[in-house]
Amino acid sequence: MTKPKITLETAAKLDQKDVLHNFKKEFYTDDNRFYMDGNSLGLLSKRAEQSLLSSLEDWKTHAIGGWTDGKEPWFYMSEKFGAKTAPLLGAKPEEVISTGSITSNLHQLLSTFYRPEGQRTKILADELNFPSDIYALKSQLELHGMDPDEHLIQVKSDNGATLSEEDIIKEMRSDIALLLLPSVLYRSGQLLDIEKITKAAHEQGIMVGFDLAHSIGALPHNLDDWGVDFAVWCTYKYLNSGPGGVGGLYVNEKHLGSKPGLAGWFSSKKDKQFDMAHDLNHAETAGAYQMGTPHILSSAPLLGSLDLFQEADIKNVRCKSLQMTRLMLDLVYQELDGLGFQIITPLEDERRGGHISLVHSEAASICKALKKENVVPDFRAPDVIRLAPVALYTTYKEVYEVMMILKEIMVNETYKKYKNERDIIA
Ligand SMILES: *Cc1c(COP(=O)(O)O)cnc(C)c1O
Repeated sequence: MTKPKITLETAAKLDQKDVLHNFKKEFYTDDNRFYMDGNSLGLLSKRAEQSLLSSLEDWKTHAIGGWTDGKEPWFYMSEKFGAKTAPLLGAKPEEVISTGSITSNLHQLLSTFYRPEGQRTKILADELNFPSDIYALKSQLELHGMDPDEHLIQVKSDNGATLSEEDIIKEMRSDIALLLLPSVLYRSGQLLDIEKITKAAHEQGIMVGFDLAHSIGALPHNLDDWGVDFAVWCTYKYLNSGPGGVGGLYVNEKHLGSKPGLAGWFSSKKDKQFDMAHDLNHAETAGAYQMGTPHILSSAPLLGSLDLFQEADIKNVRCKSLQMTRLMLDLVYQELDGLGFQIITPLEDERRGGHISLVHSEAASICKALKKENVVPDFRAPDVIRLAPVALYTTYKEVYEVMMILKEIMVNETYKKYKNERDIIA
């Protein structure tokens, strides 16, 4: 049976049925631009702008009093935003805190939970993770006096794009202390089976951490049910908190109360912090893993953004996201056949995050040609084009049009005008 041909009409019909169509006008979008890069930096919403302006207003009118008396008191902001993020994670409010960045939070949680002992000294990761995560793992090993060449085990990929859960599980030996993996691989968009991996690791006595950079705000999580020990994420990608927006971390309640590996005065119990004692009385919540003064102005936009997620419901976001990436994939087969593209994103819904990735030998040139046509893709050297149709602000029609522009660039060979090299930021 052949599938019916996908047309602009097909996409328009999907838009008519879209339960999230009202959310687009909550964002600053540009009718002349096709934004497919929300997995690197999400767009600004009017709510996020409002919550940032509100914090500025608190500063303007309350000065130091803004810590406790403003509209959104800064002293409690990280805890409050953590609690508001918890439903996106399947977590309890006290297990989540808004703080730091992925990399600094990883350092904090590795300093707290990586406890090499006896023969159990190694860290298990993969060879496809984002470099910053690997740098953090290596420097943590070195801080413990260990040689990363020997103590960091990176699971290999068969095809350079995806990982096999079975291969990961095979590496879970008795000398592994801790496992760190991405939920969704940043390059291929593969979604790992977090529950299965966590269960297998726990059977071997291994502590499990996940980096949710490419899944938070794109799909629901059940961290508590899955038993994940800790997690980190950023909010400037699918959570649309703005450039350098505050990150977050999760610590499973069974570990709450653990002494923070990297302590600071914001690790304190809130009612003890201003005792100014030299013996830290650390919080019994995920708040204990904060260090210094929160970056209020890089945190404030998150409030408005989280309100949108609360209204939209992450299940609806996931449902639309999958339908949009499915449409993209179908259009690759229908329109881009024979043009040199290879899909490296898993085709099964349950193995796919929020973006799709196409490999092409001329990927850098193609991305430049797309930008010239007002399509914003994202390029990952040496040959990957990532396209993220974000559920809250992208229409099915836009997905259709982007794929037709891509086809035109290929058929007319306009990409050949551009050098096949990456720019400084790609
Ligand atoms: C985006 C991303 C990062 C970035 O880390 P920051 O500390 O927020 O700069 C790290 N890891 C992964 C997997 C990412 O996707």
